[in-house]
Amino acid sequence: MHSLWNDESASRCADALELRAYTSRLLGADADLVLHGGGNTSLKSPWLRADGTSVPCLYVKGSGSDLAQVTPADFTPIDLAGARALLAQEHLDTDGMMAGLAPLKLRADAPKPSIETLLHASVPSSHVEHTHADSVLAIVNTAWGRKIAREVFGDYAPLVPFSHSGFDLAKSCKATLERERTARTIGLILEKHGVVAFGDDARTSYENMLALINRAETYLRAHDAWELPTGMPPPRSREGALALACLRRDLSAVAGWPMILTVDQSPEVVGFIARKDLRELATQGPPTPQHAVFTKRVPLFGRDVQAYATDYRAYLAAHAPSGQDPRTLPDAAARIVLDPVLGLVAASVDARHARMTAQIYRHDIRIASRAAAHDRYLSLPPADILLAELHYGGFERGLRAQVPTPWPRLGEVALVLADQVEQIDVLLAEGSAVVALGAEARPRDGLLVLPAAESLDDATVIEVAYGFGGIDRVVTGRTDCAPAGLLGEILALSPVRR
Ligand SMILES: [Zn+2]
Repeated sequence: MHSLWNDESASRCADALELRAYTSRLLGADADLVLHGGGNTSLKSPWLRADGTSVPCLYVKGSGSDLAQVTPADFTPIDLAGARALLAQEHLDTDGMMAGLAPLKLRADAPKPSIETLLHASVPSSHVEHTHADSVLAIVNTAWGRKIAREVFGDYAPLVPFSHSGFDLAKSCKATLERERTARTIGLILEKHGVVAFGDDARTSYENMLALINRAETYLRAHDAWELPTGMPPPRSREGALALACLRRDLSAVAGWPMILTVDQSPEVVGFIARKDLRELATQGPPTPQHAVFTKRVPLFGRDVQAYATDYRAYLAAHAPSGQDPRTLPDAAARIVLDPVLGLVAASVDARHARMTAQIYRHDIRIASRAAAHDRYLSLPPADILLAELHYGGFERGLRAQVPTPWPRLGEVALVLADQVEQIDVLLAEGSAVVALGAEARPRDGLLVLPAAESLDDATVIEVAYGFGGIDRVVTGRTDCAPAGLLGEILALSPVRR
C-alpha cells in the first residue's frame, strides 16, 4: 500500500484543518482501509474565539460524513480540556458520554460528535487516524490474534483488548498507551475492531497508518494468506431470475417493505461460496461490529427466508438489552444471501445501500478468508454484534420514513422501455430503481442501462431481473408488451402492492 501524499495538493491547503481533511480523503479513497462511514480522523489545534483568545480544541470527523469526501466543515470542534475531563471520569455509559460531549461543541451547527471522539482525545499526538483496515483485521480476528498482533506490531502499535466503541474503548486506549508506549510507538491495534495511528503532522500520521497496514500485509503474504480462492461465475438463467424474484418477494414480506437486491457473481465471491468451511467461516460474524448494521450478523445460506427470520428473532430475544423499545429492533429479513446458483445477493432499502452492503460483505469475505488461511477466523460473541446493530443501525427506518414524500417509490423496480426514457429521472427522483433498455443516460446508483431489445424475450428479462432482483412495473406506451411469459411470472412475484 503506497502513500498517496502529493506535495502540490498539500501545499494548496490553507490551514491545518484543510490539510487534515486532505489526508483524511486519502485514507477514505481506499476501500481496503475505510468503508462507508467507517473510520475517522482528528486534529488538535487551537480554536480562536471571537474575542481573540484561543482554547485547545479537538477537531474530530463528525457522524454522517464519509472520509472519502470529507471537508473542514465535517469536523466537529470540541473543547479538548472538557473532553479529557470526561475521559477522567470513572464510568460513563454511551448516553452519558454523548450528553457530556454535546455542550463541548465549539461551533453550534457542527455535526454530532463521533462516538469515538474520546478515543481521539485520549491520544497525545496532534493527528490521529482510525480505520477498520482489512489486513489488520485478518490478523487480529483469529484464535492466536493477540499473540500474532504482538509479533507483527510489537511496540509500534500495542494491542488494546476489545471494548465497545465509546468511553470504555477510549479509557482502554489511554491506559494501553500509558503502560506500553515507547519512542517507536506510532499507533494501537484494536482487537476485533481496527487500528489507530498518530503523528505530529498530517503526513506522518497518515503514513504511520499505512506503515501499520503494510506490516499486516507483509505478514499475510509471508504466510500464504493473501491470495483468495476464486471460482467460475454461475450462468444467469431463467430459473435464477425467478429465484431472485421469489427471494425479493420473501425478504420484502419479512422486512415489511419492498427491498432492492444486488447480485455479485465475481470470482472471489463464487470461490468463497464454494468453500468446504463456508458455514463455519460465515457464521462467525463480521470482522468489526459496525459492518453488521448493513450485513446483519450472519448471512442466509440458500433461500429459506422464513428459517432465517426465526433464527434472527431468537437472536434478538436472547441478546437484546432489556428495556430496548421493540419498535427500534431491526426487522428479521436477511441482508446477505449466499447461494450456489445466484452468488452473493445483498438486500437493502435502495440500490445505493444494497451496493454498499455487497461491498462491505466482499471485504468481510477477504478478511475471513485471509484469517482462515493463516489461523482460525474469529469474530465477537453474538451479543456484542447485536449491540453495534442497535447502536449504529436505523438508517433504513430513517429512509423508509420518507415514503410517500419525498420518495413514494422507494424500494420499487421499474423497467423503462426505449419510448419512455424521459421518465427515468422522474422515477429515480421518486426513489425507484430503474432498468432502462436502450437509453443514453449517465450511470448512477439505482439506474441500470441495458442495450435496446426488439422484444422482451427471456434473455432480456433475465438480465433485467438480475439488475435489482425483480420488476414491479413496465413503463412503456407500447401496447404489444403484455406481461406474458417470464416477464409476467416475475411481475406476479412483485412485493409492491398496487
Ligand atoms: Zn471504529
